[in-house]
Amino acid sequence: MRILVTGGAGYIGATAVEILLQQGFDVSVLDDLSSGFADALPSQARFIEGTILNMHTVREALTGASAVIHFAGKSLVGESVQKPDLYRDVNVHGTRVLLEEMRLANIKQIVFSSSAATYGEPTTTPITESAPTQPTSPYGETKLAIDQMLTKEASAHGLAAISLRYFNVAGSMKTERGWLRERHNPETHLIPNVLHSTADHPVKIFGSDWPTADGTCIRDYIHVVDLIDAHVRALRVLKDSHHAIINIGSGRGYSVREVIDSAQKVLERPIPTLDSPRRDGDPAVLVASIELAESLLNWRPSRDLAQMVTDTASSLELL
Ligand code: UDP
Repeated sequence: MRILVTGGAGYIGATAVEILLQQGFDVSVLDDLSSGFADALPSQARFIEGTILNMHTVREALTGASAVIHFAGKSLVGESVQKPDLYRDVNVHGTRVLLEEMRLANIKQIVFSSSAATYGEPTTTPITESAPTQPTSPYGETKLAIDQMLTKEASAHGLAAISLRYFNVAGSMKTERGWLRERHNPETHLIPNVLHSTADHPVKIFGSDWPTADGTCIRDYIHVVDLIDAHVRALRVLKDSHHAIINIGSGRGYSVREVIDSAQKVLERPIPTLDSPRRDGDPAVLVASIELAESLLNWRPSRDLAQMVTDTASSLELL
């Protein structure tokens, strides 16, 4: 069975490609390399370089595929505030093109990388899939618009779809070609920033006066390998004319200070920090309810925060 992985040259997509090949799937990759890297791809994957906005490219990429895992898209919350049109165009319009081409090719199975950003500021914690969706960024709005598009496509055209709403993805996977690591410039994510912290460039703690036990924000971190395991399981439980939305996190939260403590233990050195103002748009606490993932996918994460920090540090050649 051949799977088309859109965005397969990115950090999360390339991890999916690796695991799918290990599990015996054939894999095609469609990626425009705007934020991915061709050297992340193994030679066994068929690679089509191009954008999901081009129907001819999408058509070619879909050749021989039975299902799609759709990662391709713009994914920075801050950038989406500056460039909402770009996010709408690539994420929403690109997915529309993909779904139309899937319909023409009679390919009826899709797993989509949605986001906890669809919920916005939570009203209860942990967040269940029935929580209100009030995204606070154009990025979150595009992910929600795609989820809604998938629901309509399932009822109107028989699509079998699952949206996985990711919380904070971290960690890394080692392959024969090295670690599949995050390569953002500038890096905005907490764990790599903590690991790179030095006395000259201390990691900023965005707010230490939040209404949490230690005053710093709480997030739900999930190892990228556990995340992809959930995708493979999702592929196996897709149902025609049905769209399921499932949270993927670890189901427990860690504060920014707990992440820093974990990194100090892993690196066996103190991590310099700088107390800084709150970052715009950050909610205090974001933790997933993962009961639905457990029951529908028979999935549980198995890698803890220490493993995520250790693997990220290894991928950054800090260990
Ligand atoms: N954060 C921080 N310093 C940083 C980067 C992030 O204090 O250099 C905090 C941020 O405010 C949030 C948490 O760490 O509470 C996780 O942020 P990240 O950008 O990794 O993921 P997000 O939750 O925004 O998806």
